Parts: sequence; C-alpha cells; structure tokens
Amino acid sequence: MKRQFDLAVIGGGSGGLAVAQRAAEYGAKATVIEAGPLGGTCVNVGCVPKKIMWYSAHHAHLLRLAETFGFGVSVNGHSWRELKSRRDTYIRRLNAIYEGNLEKRKVGLIRGVAKLVDAHTIAHGSGTLTADNIVLATGGFPIVPEVPGAGHGITSDGFFQLEERPRRVALVGSGYVSMELAGVFNALGSETTVLVRMDSVLRGFDVMLQEELRKAMQEDGIRLETGVVPQSLQRTGAGLALTAADGRTFGPFDAVVWAVGRAPNSARLNLAEAGVRTDNHGYVRVDDYQCTNIRNIFAIGDVTGREALTPVAIAAGRRLADRLYGGMPDRHLDYRNIPTVIFSHPPIGTVGLTETEARQHFGDDVKVYNSRFTSMLYALGERKIRSSMKLVTTGASEKIVGCHLIGESADEILQGFAVAIRMGATKADFDDTVAIHPTSAEELVTMR
Ligand SMILES: Cc1cc2nc3c(=O)[nH]c(=O)nc-3n(C[C@H](O)[C@H](O)[C@H](O)COP(=O)(O)OP(=O)(O)OC[C@H]3O[C@@H](n4cnc5c(N)ncnc54)[C@H](O)[C@@H]3O)c2cc1C
Repeated sequence: MKRQFDLAVIGGGSGGLAVAQRAAEYGAKATVIEAGPLGGTCVNVGCVPKKIMWYSAHHAHLLRLAETFGFGVSVNGHSWRELKSRRDTYIRRLNAIYEGNLEKRKVGLIRGVAKLVDAHTIAHGSGTLTADNIVLATGGFPIVPEVPGAGHGITSDGFFQLEERPRRVALVGSGYVSMELAGVFNALGSETTVLVRMDSVLRGFDVMLQEELRKAMQEDGIRLETGVVPQSLQRTGAGLALTAADGRTFGPFDAVVWAVGRAPNSARLNLAEAGVRTDNHGYVRVDDYQCTNIRNIFAIGDVTGREALTPVAIAAGRRLADRLYGGMPDRHLDYRNIPTVIFSHPPIGTVGLTETEARQHFGDDVKVYNSRFTSMLYALGERKIRSSMKLVTTGASEKIVGCHLIGESADEILQGFAVAIRMGATKADFDDTVAIHPTSAEELVTMR
C-alpha cells in the first residue's frame, strides 16, 4: 500500500525541522505536525529569548563598567516591558521564517496535536495520515514540583511571559536554567534568591565551575540558600512565601520560578499503541542510530533524554535524514565531546570530561592545568570579576579530554577549542599554538 508520506515528523522544534528539511532536500516527501509555534522550545521559550535576556543583562554589567573607560553615563532606568515587546516581535519574525523555510523545501506543515494510531498512522486532530517512517521529536516541558501551592510559582515558560520585572524573585533549582535566569533578574535589578536542595550549584559540571560561579553570583548580590527542600508555596499579603521541609520559610517574593528539571513530551503520543518503548521517566528509548524498538519509528532530541541541547537535536536529526535518505548507512551522531555554554554572569563554556570523571576513568594518569586571572575588561575598575580555566589531560601525550572555562567571553571562546579537542589535540598542540594577545583565550595556550 502506498503511504501518503515518506516521512512524518511529530514536533516542529529544533530536531523535527532539521530532520524533515534534510530529508526533503534528498527528495523525500516529508511533513511536520506541530501543536504550537514553529521552532519549539529553543525559539519560543528557550535559547533564543533567553539569549536576548542575557544580552540585556550583559549590557547592565557593561554600563557599570563604561565609566572606567571614560564615559559619563547616566542610566534612565530599564524597561522590561519594552524589552519583552521587542523580543516577542523578533520571535514572531523567526516563526514566520521557519514556516517559509518549510515551504521553500516543500515540507508539509500540519497544525495540531499528533498521536500514533499504529506504526505507520498518525492522528492529528483534523484527520489521520500515513507514512513509511515516523520521527518523534516532541521535546520536553518544565517540571512543577508536586507540593501544595506550587501553582503560585511559574516555570521558565512563565519567565518568558513576564510583562514586568518582579522586584523580589526566587529561583528554585541548581541547574543551568536556574543559574541563567538568576543572572538575568539580578543584573536587571530584581532582589534575587536562589534556593537549592543540596550544597552546590551546577552539579555534574566540573567542581571548579561550580565553585567559581557560586562565588561570582554571591559577589554580585545573589542570595544562595542551600539545603532547601520545598514543601509548600503560599500566597500571603506580603507576597509568596516558600516553606522548606526543615521548617525554614523564605520570602516574601513577587515571583517564584521552578527550575527543577524537565520531563519528556511523550504521554500524549499513544506510544504503547504502536509498541514504542520508553524508560521509567517516559523518555523514548533509542540506540546510537536514533532507532526505537519499532523498525520505522525513530526519535531525536529532548524526548530521548540525551544531551538536551538544540544543536544536538539538530545534528541527530540531520544525520538521521542522511542515513535514511542520503545514502549514508552508517551516519549517526557521536554524543562524545559535545561543547556547551551556560549563559550565566560570567558565562561558562565546557566540553569533555570533568576532572572527577577523568580521574574515575584514568586514575593517576590525569594531569590538570589551571589558570586564574582577571580579564583586562576589569583592569580599570574596582570590581574584578575573575576568569578561571582548567584543562584536563590524560596519558604521557597529555591528550586533552576536558576543557572548562568561566569568565568574560568564555561563551565565545569555547567553540574553536572544542574542534581541536574533538580532533584529539594534546597539551603540546595547545602550547605550540601562538597566543593571541591580549585576550582571555590566550590563557588556554600558555598554561604551565
Ligand atoms: C530556558 C531554556 C533555555 C535553553 N537554552 C539553551 C541554549 O542556550 N542552548 C541550547 O543548545 N539549548 C538550550 N535549551 C534546550 C533546547 O531548547 C532544547 O534542547 C531543544 O529545543 C530540543 O529540541 P527538540 O527538537 O528535541 O524539542 P523542542 O524544540 O522542544 O520541540 C518539540 C516540539 O514538539 C511539539 N510537540 C510536542 N508534542 C507534540 C504532539 N503530540 N503533537 C505535535 N507537536 C508536539 C512542541 O510543541 C514543540 O514545538 C534551553 C531550554 C530551555 C527550557
């Protein structure tokens, strides 16, 4: 039986759009089914609006420094409302560009919530369709903890809906989203408190990054409360009050943001009907080739529970299309050495193994190089924001297996070094590279 499409993709976010467009470039008849705005989390409630907010916060930091470089600056306030309005306009423009890109490549777009009927059939609200191959690219959503009054709080999705800057805000969570949003609020003038369950932030990242960011945030005026296990959130006359399991109460706040992790969008997909397996948390199980246990059904991006990053979803999607339609039978994504940036203040860039992981894998064969310095950006002012860098190497050749940066421009420095590390660079390769002076990046090739 001839099916309507070669490929149907559920979810028009980073991964879904990438796989459908690449498949269409190879001549496949492809369609995307999307329940919300095109571009998914990244474009609408993730990377893109977040980076705009980061830039605004970054300007707040630069304005404070401008005086040290001779400017007489008087800042006449900051309009969160104006910023949001401009940001929303920009996002709407991107949504339209994404739709245009689908049209250009002759990829179909069906609006609606999709679910599987069987391994080749999808119901999407206004009807059903059939396809030879199906890709699940439905991403995830922010978790709201199950405590009384949790609904008084918002998530990162709600952060992007805020029309005004809350005067007093709490971020609950120690992951990167919490760190990034705390940095934005604080720089733009909110009294900012971060409440974390354990004793540290950014668990899973290199310890140097955890400690340096924690210090930088505290020096910047962010309050960090540790050992906080939320038990309830109440609305009082003075604002929101969060009570912890040990009886401590925090607040009042004008907004509380839950940044306690994400879960996969898989419950509505009717996966059991088609026999698609998930793990206990609902993530779709895939192998190295993005294959589920059903021969013609694949999954990519956040719904698989692998590294939840836009370029990862895109790379997995494009490689899958290369494999299915581009005559590249072994093409798949290598999930090692994926570089990532945290848009904190100061920013973090990290790739490869943490020092702890490296020592677990390689024992005493690990040698670590550190550098700590102050960028010239802060040379003329009172306040010095430190930069720290760490290279983790293994073996006699001192192959670099981890690179961790925090400080001015760390976000832009990392990408090129990630290429070198992926190619197997050693410490000697770094040392043999002539430095670019005066920059922060040169520290990476002058470490002793
Ligand atoms: C606050 C925040 C900041 C982030 N910052 C960064 C960053 O700086 N850099 C970075 O690389 N990553 C960042 N991310 C992560 C990044 O956004 C995700 O990893 C990426 O969007 C995942 O892409 P995806 O295609 O898997 O899913 P998504 O982009 O989430 O797309 C899934 C799409 O599927 C649709 N969908 C779901 N269920 C159905 C259904 N049943 N039927 C039809 N459609 C459906 C959804 O509406 C959505 O559009 C951030 C995330 C958040 C929350």
